[in-house]
Amino acid sequence: MRSQDYDRLFLSPPHLGRHELNYVHKAIEDNWVAPAGPNITGFEGDICQAAGMAHAVALTSGTAAIHLGLILLGVGPGDEVLCPSFTFVATANPVLYLGATPVFVDSEADTWNLCPERLREAIVARLALGKKPKALILVHLYGMPARLPEILALAQEFDIPILEDAAEALGSRFEGQPLGSFGAVGVFSFNGNKILTTSGGGALVTNDATLAQRARFLATQAKDHAPHYQHSEVGYNYRLSNLLAGIGRGQMELLDERVKRRREIFAWYQKHLAGRPGLTVALAPEPAGSRSNRWLTTILLNQPEADSDAPLATPETLRLHLETHNIESRPLWKPLHLQPLFATAPMYGGEVCADLFARGLCLPSGTAMTEADLRRVAEAVREVL
Ligand SMILES: *Cc1c(COP(=O)(O)O)cnc(C)c1O
Repeated sequence: MRSQDYDRLFLSPPHLGRHELNYVHKAIEDNWVAPAGPNITGFEGDICQAAGMAHAVALTSGTAAIHLGLILLGVGPGDEVLCPSFTFVATANPVLYLGATPVFVDSEADTWNLCPERLREAIVARLALGKKPKALILVHLYGMPARLPEILALAQEFDIPILEDAAEALGSRFEGQPLGSFGAVGVFSFNGNKILTTSGGGALVTNDATLAQRARFLATQAKDHAPHYQHSEVGYNYRLSNLLAGIGRGQMELLDERVKRRREIFAWYQKHLAGRPGLTVALAPEPAGSRSNRWLTTILLNQPEADSDAPLATPETLRLHLETHNIESRPLWKPLHLQPLFATAPMYGGEVCADLFARGLCLPSGTAMTEADLRRVAEAVREVL
């Protein structure tokens, strides 16, 4: 870390525990410095247990996991894939890798995730055009469970397989069941900013042994069974390093603790920022049955009352003010249908996620934050409002 970063409060920095180094050390001692080895097997076992899924495949990133997951669901050139507009670009980029088209759907205001009504509208409209969506990517943004009962029912009604992008939702649950376990394929990310990290990394989970085996095959250059290098289809180099899987094993021991702390941080902000005119600590409360990992605490700025002379704070004025206190904050994800990259992709609705983007900001939420750190953020926020 650079010296000028010393008192900077980051949005969601890595937070290591005490055992990561032991696993890495052992890997080096035993010369398992390769994309194979006991840490990978161990890490995959930990992920299976946390996700309640039979199989996990450790990969170089969550994006790689989404890419392979879409291939497993049969997505190819010319296909359409349903996808929320309100998400990180990594959710939809793999759709483009495959020569397919994302069909974007708006959010609903409570969970900020896929709106079931808009989703039905999109499916019906695509079917009317003779284009049955090949898959549905279901995202749980900021760790908040999407409207699962309604969305699962729609997927079943129209027979569309689900790839669950739980990159931000490791440790979140719906009615006790871990997110990432609701689709045919689930995806986690262990990027440096996520609730647990391997610096960079990801995983694909599934209950289908054939799919898991195929994911491993595709992730290791699709090498056919032969003594020489024999290949019949396109493969990828997507396997996680055994060194990084060692970091992952240490991190997975901390999952419950980290979720607990993120939830405490959310509750702290909620308590200390509540009642501020013009501001809501957003995504509260959780809908019935939902338990979010509260990966990032997010706030929404409201229009001042018509008769008030309060200045209009925007996410950008607030962000710049926090910067003067050396505090990192970030706008919510910019909807993908508003990105130049996806200018020609179909979109159903759009007002809800555009409004969230216009009003929202993510606050520092790292699990290593102290009470004093949280106070620093809250005071800086109050100065603006
Ligand atoms: C982080 C993230 C990804 C991608 O994960 P990487 O490991 O960074 O490739 C995918 N989807 C969402 C919603 C994410 O937040």
